[in-house]
Amino acid sequence: MAGILFGSPFIIIVILLTFLLVLLLFVDNYSNISVIKKFYSFGTIIQIEAYGKNAEKAIDEAAEKLQHIDDEMSVFKESSDVSNINRNAGIQFQQVDEETYYVIKKAAEYGEISNGAFDVTIRPLVKLWGIGSDNARIPDKKDINVTKRLIDYKDILFDEKNCSIKLSRINQELDLGGIAKGFAADNIKSILRKNGIKKGIIDLGGNIYALGGKRFGKGWDIGIQDPFETRGKYLGFINVSNKSIVTSGNYERYSLINGQYFQHIIDPKTGYPSDSNIVSATIISDLSIDGDGLSTGVYIIGIDKALKLIESIKNVEAIFITKSKEIYMTSGLKSKFKLTNGDFIIKNNNENNTEVQNENKNIQTANI
Ligand code: AMP
Ligand code: MG
Repeated sequence: MAGILFGSPFIIIVILLTFLLVLLLFVDNYSNISVIKKFYSFGTIIQIEAYGKNAEKAIDEAAEKLQHIDDEMSVFKESSDVSNINRNAGIQFQQVDEETYYVIKKAAEYGEISNGAFDVTIRPLVKLWGIGSDNARIPDKKDINVTKRLIDYKDILFDEKNCSIKLSRINQELDLGGIAKGFAADNIKSILRKNGIKKGIIDLGGNIYALGGKRFGKGWDIGIQDPFETRGKYLGFINVSNKSIVTSGNYERYSLINGQYFQHIIDPKTGYPSDSNIVSATIISDLSIDGDGLSTGVYIIGIDKALKLIESIKNVEAIFITKSKEIYMTSGLKSKFKLTNGDFIIKNNNENNTEVQNENKNIQTANI
């Protein structure tokens, strides 16, 4: 009897303390106070939003990491690993940072997976066309054909023991523009997590990582850019938590040459900007590097092959938008995507999603 009398208040106190602790953790990680920082890096606008007491410190750390990755992987920086590899093409192996090695190795894997549509040795063609730059032009067919022969990811030689890479032939050049942002997003996510942050949005100009959820137990609503509209106008949204959402779109970088629009993703097989029926490819995956490599690759191969390819990869989903405003998506997205713009139609087997929802004002847009 005495034991019970002694035990009861004790248990109540323990329960109360536990409740208080859980509440404190909850308030800290899911508080509505966030730190948002916007800056320019990787040739794009970066926005990181983080919740929790270490948010400010974590974002500053992330910005430093971004700078470091850009310094290693940018083709525009003379002293980067990538520029060093390019300068030594056909000459000798170049030792690189482990991170650069990892990204190039991954890029070569995506070359293989996409059957050469994603090809990280694309740089000579990117330079020839100059899309998105002041030198954009339609090159001579002859020049395109000659340059095209330089593009082959199978010519990347790896020396793992010495963390070194060589391009087999002179004038070959790497361009990590189609994959490095994904790697960067994965790194930022790790930095936020290391700092105890469980909730936030990482936006690297179209490469989004949705950390945790907007409210406890809920995901983030990520807007899917309408590829026929100005940035920030979305055609629907997808509710996700702890996922990367990467979009390759015709609106990201393009040039108007002789009255014709050309976008920046080049088909290595033709040497011309991709002219598949896809104008926007969004990949939802755990790792952003995977989403980035895949989104650029599937953009080129057209809707049928793209759907088949993504369906065959575990834990990866996709939304494709065609020139004729049709939306195709993989089977795993059935309950997650909501269409808000009636100009588009969902074309695959998912009837539940064809209903157009009311616009949700609190949506993060996948592209800023
Ligand atoms: P993203 O925005 O991720 O789709 O990447 C587009 C960028 O990747 C372009 O601006 C080029 O720098 C590069 N790129 C263009 N075509 C290809 C290709 N076929 N394979 C790999 N990278 C490419
Ligand atoms: Mg990409």
